[in-house]
Amino acid sequence: MHIATVNPANGETVKTYHPMGEDEIERRLQLAEATFRTYRTTTFDERAHLLHRAAELLDEDRRAIGRVITTEMGKPVKQARAEAAKCAKAMHWYADHAAELLADEEPDASDVKDSGASRVLVRYRPLGPVLAVMPWNFPLWQVVRFAAPALMAGNVGLLKHASNVPQTALYLEDLFHRAGFTEGCFQTLLIGSAAVDEILRDERVKAATLTGSEPAGRAVASTAGEMVKKTVLELGGSDPYVVMPSADLDRAAEVAVTARTQNTGQSCIAAKRFIVHTEVYDAFAERFTAGMKALRVGDPMDEETDVGPLSSEQGRNDLEELVADAVRAGATVLCGGERPDGPGWFYPPTVLAGIDREMRIHREEAFGPVATLYRAADLDEAVLIANDTSFGLSSNVWTRDEAEADRFVRDLEAGSVYVNGMTASHPAFPFGGVKRSGYGRELSGHGIREFCNITTVWHG
Ligand code: NDP
Repeated sequence: MHIATVNPANGETVKTYHPMGEDEIERRLQLAEATFRTYRTTTFDERAHLLHRAAELLDEDRRAIGRVITTEMGKPVKQARAEAAKCAKAMHWYADHAAELLADEEPDASDVKDSGASRVLVRYRPLGPVLAVMPWNFPLWQVVRFAAPALMAGNVGLLKHASNVPQTALYLEDLFHRAGFTEGCFQTLLIGSAAVDEILRDERVKAATLTGSEPAGRAVASTAGEMVKKTVLELGGSDPYVVMPSADLDRAAEVAVTARTQNTGQSCIAAKRFIVHTEVYDAFAERFTAGMKALRVGDPMDEETDVGPLSSEQGRNDLEELVADAVRAGATVLCGGERPDGPGWFYPPTVLAGIDREMRIHREEAFGPVATLYRAADLDEAVLIANDTSFGLSSNVWTRDEAEADRFVRDLEAGSVYVNGMTASHPAFPFGGVKRSGYGRELSGHGIREFCNITTVWHG
């Protein structure tokens, strides 16, 4: 694939790049390996100092890098700036907490004695160079949530970013250098996806993390499996958003609009399927549809814009096909559903009702501002519909009944359950999915330990 910045708001090619050749890739792999040998011996304090500095620089840069992101993948510029600020916060968080999260652990004294040891400890040691294959939808955040814990753990990073966000990819490499990390600590590989397999097979690369589509995840995980290398996968989602009769309906409808359309709907944790109890279905549908219609769609550089263009022509075509398939099979369009004339890959906020399980949009991830509405007779049916998907990333439920909330927490097949709120990642909480949404966790202590050699140290 072409490595280029193509502005989704008008389809114009802004800048193209030559992919790195074999010699350059080899130089970077050697550098990663050599850097790791010394970087792994640095202290948490030294790493924290550098990461705090990177966070400060990113925060200072947020206006400029925000515009770059908007030019590359089309998200509204205010959301791009917010993404940069969120990354800075996560960097500070890991800089502040890594030493404690990775502190030596001591098993129970009775177990130590039982093993015949005088002392036992568990130490978290780094693995080495980790390859990160990342998507364009949150082009800073997806990378930072890998890089901040990886660097604090003493690993070094190799980034293969999506081919449509090369400027953001190069910015990240530059950011870590400016903060004082030595050159090999974090490197960007400007390569297409076809070059990933060979790099992953290289013995200097110890592990990989991928965020993106299921086919990409399957490709990386199968090579890593062959090579017996650890992977973390964060793939798609089709998160349910369940509304029960006791919910604060106004709030549930208002948050539903943001949950579906943030990042122009191109988010793995966006709520996609809205499952509403029959008692409040009509009232919710009316409020939700009104909210979707009221959104401002337009130039993503405009501060007032809520919904920008989709990131690519292909992305818009895929979304249109999902909608057309549903309409052919009997779905009703409550709003949107038609692409506007003119340049750019815009698609309006759209609500579809009358969804059945044979429709593609019920089974596949709708990566854009298209919501599907379902009517549920009771809690049991709501859970059935919510779990009737191959994905299991996150889930949202709206109810003021605690027993009901407990039932959802017990029964929803997802990596998280947000009660009376929308899913949003936070550095302190584990993030990841079950089923075909992937495996492993990012963020929190769970995330930083994924790429560690958990070492048992036994003293006789
Ligand atoms: P991809 O999964 O194709 O891209 C994500 C990353 O994986 C990119 O860096 C891409 O590189 C790389 N990649 C793709 N194929 C392979 C492969 N076979 N081996 C190694 N690396 C690979 O996502 P798309 O951009 O094509 O989006 C398609 C769909 O994926 C979306 O509609 C959405 O459903 C889902 N998606 C989910 C995301 C999430 O956050 N969970 C994020 C992005 C997409 P390159 O760009 O060079 O192809």
